[in-house]
Amino acid sequence: MASNISNMMLDRFLLAREMAIAGYVSQIITLETTLSYKQLRRVYDSIKTSGVERCRSGRAVRSGSTIIQSNLDKLQASMLMQLYRTIGGEDVLKKTNIDALNQAYRMYCALRYEIPGYEHRSFRQLSITDAWCLADELRSNLAMIEHCPYCDLEFFMSTNARLVSTRQECPFCKRQPHEEEEMNEIHP
Ligand SMILES: [Zn+2]
Repeated sequence: MASNISNMMLDRFLLAREMAIAGYVSQIITLETTLSYKQLRRVYDSIKTSGVERCRSGRAVRSGSTIIQSNLDKLQASMLMQLYRTIGGEDVLKKTNIDALNQAYRMYCALRYEIPGYEHRSFRQLSITDAWCLADELRSNLAMIEHCPYCDLEFFMSTNARLVSTRQECPFCKRQPHEEEEMNEIHP
């Protein structure tokens, strides 16, 4: 029993270490690992002592409305969250899967680098913390992956997104999947 508990603690510390190196903010690490801030401080200290560099991009926990402000943001969120769902399966709609999210994020960064124009400086890259925030919205039904009947692609839709156009429009073909249904409701 005691060894089970210490194994569990070890798993949590290892997950916290992995998340800290990947650049997740403390708030998310404590939430996912249930470690205290004091325990997390020890994790940070041990990383520092071992000389491993922690990724420091994107320190804020943001909602979909702040992350997705343009069509380009929505394209990136769609790419990242589709990779995440493909790797983690439908279970990610019920529970956040950190391993799948880390893998999806690494692929997103690699793809972003390969697609011409994506590496441009003015094209803001989503942080791993942003990725978690989007995944959290997906898990809590505040966001969904919609299918566009016009271009047959899937895209990420946050119900939090501020602008109606950013929220409902397919980022690939710029049409609204439900526009005909809505038109029919107005003009039956
Ligand atoms: Zn479309």
